[in-house]
Amino acid sequence: MGQYRAVRGMVDVLPDETPLWQMLEQTARDVIGAHGYSEIRTPLVERTELFARSIGEVTDIVEKEMYSFADRNDEGLSLRPEGTASTVRAMVQHNLIQSAQRVWYMGPMFRYERPQKGRQRQFHQLGVEAFGVPTPDQDAELLLLCRQWWKRLGIDDVVTLELNTIGSAESRHAYKGALTAYLRQHVESLDEDSQRRLETNPLRILDSKSAATQNVVTGAPAMAAFLDDESKAHHDQLCELLGQAGLSFVANPNLVRGLDYYNKTVFEWTTDRLGAQATVCGGGRYDGMVGQFGGNATPAAGFAAGLERLIMLLQTLEADATEPPDLYVISADSNALSRAMLEADRIRTEFPGLRVVQHLGGGSLKSQFKRADKSGASWAMVYGPDELAQGTVTVKPLRTNEEQTSLGRGALNDFLHRLERLASDIEE
Ligand code: ATP
Ligand code: MG
Repeated sequence: MGQYRAVRGMVDVLPDETPLWQMLEQTARDVIGAHGYSEIRTPLVERTELFARSIGEVTDIVEKEMYSFADRNDEGLSLRPEGTASTVRAMVQHNLIQSAQRVWYMGPMFRYERPQKGRQRQFHQLGVEAFGVPTPDQDAELLLLCRQWWKRLGIDDVVTLELNTIGSAESRHAYKGALTAYLRQHVESLDEDSQRRLETNPLRILDSKSAATQNVVTGAPAMAAFLDDESKAHHDQLCELLGQAGLSFVANPNLVRGLDYYNKTVFEWTTDRLGAQATVCGGGRYDGMVGQFGGNATPAAGFAAGLERLIMLLQTLEADATEPPDLYVISADSNALSRAMLEADRIRTEFPGLRVVQHLGGGSLKSQFKRADKSGASWAMVYGPDELAQGTVTVKPLRTNEEQTSLGRGALNDFLHRLERLASDIEE
């Protein structure tokens, strides 16, 4: 029988990559927590209708990317393709919009796309959603929060904020009319996808990647001319707040985002280090969704970051988050092993800051030292016959030229205290 393989587009995160993932996730928790946001965890499965209504029937996601199925009771369900719709559903269902105004989530999302670098069928997003604040200080805070996260990750120099406003639903409607009229005159120059979108979702044509279509778009009427006064004022205030915070951005009038629920502010963080899959994070304002989902009309704004792309970016910068063991415990025979295991257990209790790996499965001292070296540990702790007889342990440095020494109980504890302090200094 052949081996099983993961489903196409579904990716295993292997042990040598998880340290980077954990670092990415921990920095996010720290930064978002420091802004007073709480975590929410929603199911991976929702009614298909929830996504169709909020994301939009004629968007890429709903038209062709959803994992939809009928369950045994014939309910139309889908694996979540994104996190905002589920979050809003949960907040409305549990009456939390007022009390827990700021939430974040992290987890897998599912979209049936053509797998390629930076594009998977199961991928991970971290999202932040803030409810109840209609003013641009909320939009600004979300962007400053992103910047804090990028700084912690050391990627703030390689990402760029692109910003736009798409106004109110009414102004967008008026603009759609003008844009469609213009594009109809150039229909034969548009790529096939855009020709189809002309009737369904003309705004998406603005951010088409086809060069021919971009040529046509250059001459299209500008959204700015159709903006309502309130959206314009909102945008100006946001730009001013960002200016005061020293957060520079690129104004991108063609940025519209692929989901229907946005209004006013939309933004993306992009990088030139990842080729075609250049957007690592996207978001904006969605003032209509809570009302649409049956809650009291409540303004909202948020963003979602693509974790695979952030990991790839960290990898191109050669970020390393691996934490090798501090101690690798070696024993000469089964007598020594039972003492070594007890000691390792005691050390883990009394020195929780230390990573202690016990050699298991026996073997010669030489082969155990080889393993110790391979593990990346800083020190080997050796329990041999002499140590057993004298009630001591030998600590041997594996990465430095220090002397190896035999230590009694008191001296060992002093040594471990020093090692633990060193380990926590390095972590900070
Ligand atoms: P794209 O234009 O790249 O398809 P999108 O507009 O569909 O992106 P969003 O729905 O805004 O993406 O999702 C937010 C972020 O999630 C993206 O900026 C990206 O970093 C990440 N993302 C989206 N789809 C995928 C995917 N299939 N695989 C990996 N990451 C993804
Ligand atoms: Mg997409």
